[in-house]
Amino acid sequence: MSNLPACEYEPKPYDGPSKEEVIQLRGEFLTPALVTYYKEPIMIVDGHMQYLFDETGKRYLDGFAGIVSVSAGHCHPRVMEAVNLQNSRLQHTTTIYLHPNIAKFAQKLAGTLPENLNCVYFTNSGSEANDLAILMARAYTKNYDVIALRNGYHGGSQGAMGLTAHSSWKYSVPHGFGVHHTVVPDRYRGHFGYDDSGSGEAYAKDVLDIIQRGSSGSIAAFIAEPMQGVGGVIEMPPNYLRDSYKYVRDAGGICISDEVQTGFGRTGEHFWGFENHDVVPDMVVMAKGIGNGCPLAAVVTTKEIAQSLTEAIHFNTFGGNPVSCAQGLASLEVILDDDMQGNSKRLGGKLFAGLHDLQKKYECIGDVRGKGLMVGVELIEDENKTPATLLTANVFETCKDLGLIIGKGGYFGNVLRIKPPMCLTELDIDFMLDVLDEAFAQETS
Ligand code: PMP
Repeated sequence: MSNLPACEYEPKPYDGPSKEEVIQLRGEFLTPALVTYYKEPIMIVDGHMQYLFDETGKRYLDGFAGIVSVSAGHCHPRVMEAVNLQNSRLQHTTTIYLHPNIAKFAQKLAGTLPENLNCVYFTNSGSEANDLAILMARAYTKNYDVIALRNGYHGGSQGAMGLTAHSSWKYSVPHGFGVHHTVVPDRYRGHFGYDDSGSGEAYAKDVLDIIQRGSSGSIAAFIAEPMQGVGGVIEMPPNYLRDSYKYVRDAGGICISDEVQTGFGRTGEHFWGFENHDVVPDMVVMAKGIGNGCPLAAVVTTKEIAQSLTEAIHFNTFGGNPVSCAQGLASLEVILDDDMQGNSKRLGGKLFAGLHDLQKKYECIGDVRGKGLMVGVELIEDENKTPATLLTANVFETCKDLGLIIGKGGYFGNVLRIKPPMCLTELDIDFMLDVLDEAFAQETS
């Protein structure tokens, strides 16, 4: 039985309503559309860096970061100091008055991107940011057709749901006007094999085909996650984005990189996911990790494209709020100053090495993929790659019992997703691998 690495932080004793009372209140007063993880849901009431605590004080290693959001660590002291200070001075006025936080944060954020991507619009969620990105793309290009990827996830608002292409996340209502979904370059399950040479180019040909034979021929935008997150950690193959961007730009469109999960150093090698592909998008959408857990998102584009939004007034009441910007700025400073990207690279390397060892030991591990601290482990039943959905749920559940929280995803729910706060340590990775080993041993015996 593996033990969690030591932690000096002691959570305060919990004196709120019991878990049973909270379950009852949720059932009575909250929408039945809310879902919870685990057969018996857990209640998390405290967090410190890479660790979470339930109401009994039980500690967990957080391998999912509030769904890839708490990039720098739960209640990181530097982030909390900045946000508490701002909370005590001024919470909200909107952008109709000047405030330094939004300006300072935009400057710092632009500093992480290629030079021409220097015009920021803050929103509160990734869905809103994607809606705005498509609006700007259409306003700028005067074109209507949008290309998104199958198996992609871009949010749950009506516009973003139209970009999303996963039946689990879509309702049978009108949405996605003008959106065409191209083939997902899934090297593990797709048509062109795992071979890196040529599969990217082959998949990108479907983008060209949609432009030529599936649309008006004039494109407003192409949107893709450099590595699909919700879809089960599917990384775009080499040259896929390069070729797709070219086809789209030739058809008058702009290229949008949805970095909601891949940004802020998570992929280790680079700060932004698109940088792994030698392309420069015209627009970058960011959320989740940008705010280390607060409602904050942004679209960053060129001055020229952003100008298109001045045709009318586009207003977002809380976008760029002083408190969110204090939190975003402090989180970005911590990520940069503490070299969390370097941590992602180093610890991701260790995690991948350990996972590849587990893959040799357990036949059910069909694929280990991702980059840095954005990791997917796809579980299969047999050589036909039949998705091992039940086994995945069981491993996931056992990990939790052993003190490790991770995520799962992919259309069949057979991909374990590991995306921890980027502040974790080697000892945490050792613990994570021990727990996974134990969970696989238990569930496959
Ligand atoms: N894009 C991507 C890639 C995402 O993973 C998500 C959220 N899972 C979104 C957009 C939507 O973000 P939000 O939930 O903040 O609206």
